[in-house]
Amino acid sequence: MAPGPATTAPPTATTTSSSTGAVQISEVAKDNTRTSRTATHSHIKGLGLRPDGTADTNSGGFIGQSAAREACGVVVDLIKAKKMSGRAVLLAGGPGTGKTALALAVSQDLGSRVPFCPIVGSEIYSSEVKKTEALMENFRRAIGLRVRETKEVYEGEVVELSPEETENPLGGYGRTISHLLISLKAAKGTKKLRLDPSIYEAIQKERVRLGDVIYIEANTGSVKRVGRSDAYATEFDLEAEEYVPVPKGEVHKKKEVVQDVTLHDLDVANARPQGGQDVMSMMGQLMKPKKTEITEKLRNEINKVVNKYIDQGVAELVPGVLFIDEVHMLDLESFTYLTRALESSISPIVILASNRGLTPIRGASDTLPPSAHGIPSDLLARLLIIPTHPYQPDEIKSIVRTRAKTEGLNVSEAALARVSEAGVRVSLRYALQLLAPASVLAKVGGRGEVGVEEVEECEGLFLDAGRSARGLGAEGFM
Ligand code: ATP
Repeated sequence: MAPGPATTAPPTATTTSSSTGAVQISEVAKDNTRTSRTATHSHIKGLGLRPDGTADTNSGGFIGQSAAREACGVVVDLIKAKKMSGRAVLLAGGPGTGKTALALAVSQDLGSRVPFCPIVGSEIYSSEVKKTEALMENFRRAIGLRVRETKEVYEGEVVELSPEETENPLGGYGRTISHLLISLKAAKGTKKLRLDPSIYEAIQKERVRLGDVIYIEANTGSVKRVGRSDAYATEFDLEAEEYVPVPKGEVHKKKEVVQDVTLHDLDVANARPQGGQDVMSMMGQLMKPKKTEITEKLRNEINKVVNKYIDQGVAELVPGVLFIDEVHMLDLESFTYLTRALESSISPIVILASNRGLTPIRGASDTLPPSAHGIPSDLLARLLIIPTHPYQPDEIKSIVRTRAKTEGLNVSEAALARVSEAGVRVSLRYALQLLAPASVLAKVGGRGEVGVEEVEECEGLFLDAGRSARGLGAEGFM
């Protein structure tokens, strides 16, 4: 079956105090592994196009690659005009020519908070998870849901916070907060409240400190840090303490809370932990991260609740970008699944990338001739293909300079030239990788600036792929 909530209507959004009780949004844990993967592109802020759709040579963190950026701009327009359904984009070009950066920029130009899910084709192969299951999971990572809720909250500033030694159930003693006074802001002045111990856990989870401005939700007592006050203790006329089980009083306001989650976040938050509660399985869970079981049934349940919230106007779907790099690593079965998934009523924008030319399709019969980028012809026919081109030396230098600035590195002009030279001679990726270790060497040597010396030392310490292969020779380690 097709990935995403294709079988039902559009997927859902939910409020924290879900009336259905079935779907948890408040406990959604964010998966940040994908974020770290996009860190190498943190200088990219969008396609950097002018209002007429043409590319500035250097804008949005992007340098050069103008034709591809302009083509991606057209794709963004097509997506906004809802004319991309059933179609996908293929970025075709050599390694390090900015394919991932372009896909990320498309998601950024579609709007802030649009999910971006980058994967590599080979990632779907695992002994534990079926290929199509892995693809489905990533489809759902790339479909966002924006949930809007109106909450009644109390706003206050923490004016006293006392830690206390408490017994730890696993033995020993630990420090917990035993005493917290907040000053709630009121029209008529301020009131000092001692809070019920039941919300201490939430306070500790949020790492509340003295002087923090916090919101306490009226219904649940959940706590959120929203800022700092510089003059907390002195500004308030702190009157008699008043003990409150949960904050009550005249001081409250309505606050719209917008929460962005993905369908995959919802799947994970609502999945049951695998295994029973016997001691061995609990030990197992301590040894390795708790595994969750996401079933087809669970996904359908979540889709139903999501649909309900969309119908109620509480939530809206935010299709994001699923980027599959090295798409030639997918096999025939996965391509078939992908093609069908594109037809789903709820599908993310799929951007594929390949640096291969004519390549055999994995999993296809040997008699089938090689295909462009290793992609079957029926899928190829649905693709808008955008080529990316190798960079000129001055473009490489500008990219290296931008990257050094983003990483907060102080690099001399001569060292920048040397790194850029490595970019021309070897690859842009290799050049960019030299920056961080060179800065470490400069620091160790007590120099405030990365010089040619450190770059040269790094080139000696770290081989590029070509030198590494030559070093081993045809026989490898044998
Ligand atoms: P591969 O085929 O190996 O996956 P790729 O084409 O996806 O490579 P990227 O990962 O996008 O290449 O680029 C390599 C690095 O260079 C990244 O840090 C990226 O942000 C940066 N980069 C590439 N092109 C540009 C550009 N035109 N402007 C600014 N930075 C760029």
